[in-house]
Amino acid sequence: MIQKIDKQAVQEALEMAYDRCKNETGGKNADYIPYLANVPSDLFGIAACLPDGDVVAVGDVKYRFGIESVSKVPTAILAMNQYSGEEVLQKIGADATGLPFNSIMAILLEKDHPSTPLVNAGAISACSMIRPTGDSQGKWQAIVEFIADLAGSPVEVIDELYKSETATNFNNKSIAWLLKNYNRIYDDPDLALDIYTRQCSIGVTAVQLAVMAATIANGGVNPITCKPVFKPELAPKITSMMATVGFYEHTGDWLFQTGLPAKTGVGGGIMGVVPGVMGVAAFAPPLDEAGNSVKAQKALAYISLHLNMGVFGTTRCVMEEKEPARA
Ligand code: GLU
Repeated sequence: MIQKIDKQAVQEALEMAYDRCKNETGGKNADYIPYLANVPSDLFGIAACLPDGDVVAVGDVKYRFGIESVSKVPTAILAMNQYSGEEVLQKIGADATGLPFNSIMAILLEKDHPSTPLVNAGAISACSMIRPTGDSQGKWQAIVEFIADLAGSPVEVIDELYKSETATNFNNKSIAWLLKNYNRIYDDPDLALDIYTRQCSIGVTAVQLAVMAATIANGGVNPITCKPVFKPELAPKITSMMATVGFYEHTGDWLFQTGLPAKTGVGGGIMGVVPGVMGVAAFAPPLDEAGNSVKAQKALAYISLHLNMGVFGTTRCVMEEKEPARA
């Protein structure tokens, strides 16, 4: 069964989600990275990007916040695009660890592979894979250009955030070198860690996250620039990874409740992919105990349920213009 939605319906859903969630006071900013503790806690924005490139948005959607773990998604796609899905599966894996995103225990338990590029260990490993290896500047260029292509607009590092993360990333240093011990780092560990730290420090807006998600939803073609950014067969691969581990240890609960493959970051951003339909994103800094934005997850859950966007349902939403021909 097909349920048709249009831009107006999406706009209304975003506005209703905003109104319902704007007074939510739960959670607190991440504070293990000092910069994040000082981001104004009341910021809140929601955006969606539709297949024709139309963007609908409400709230603080132009504020640049730290992309953090959401950056693991583009780097995983880039690694699969440069190598192949199979090679990333073999070198890193695609399993949820069931443990916190920065878990060292997870590496010790699964020493044969870092599990998934969407937790810290796998993301540092993915950064080590990105070509050209051994060339920090070249690697960085490849990543930042790829993210800009996904977003359809330039992105850059928030310097203060990068310095703040670099000064405090002791746990990630341990991860990088432990991976080296298990031959799961494919470049210099310190170089890979620095690239990872820089990519987490990139500033993005909620609109940019929504466009990135829409590019994935659109099979790798950016709906605004119309540029093919990555191989179409990788869209379901990355979406499955997001579905498996995107909400840290709460991923199963999230997927059960919403059916929306999504990836969160400790900067307060969440990006959700509705394959073939749209990209949606929300941003609000205060996080729950697992590291997921409290307001952003409530808003996206509301939108997903209200528009019936869950990917496992038998009633499937499609955009009005994209209704498939009936047999
Ligand atoms: N840069 C953060 C870290 O490595 C990202 C964490 C996240 O957003 O999950 O701890």
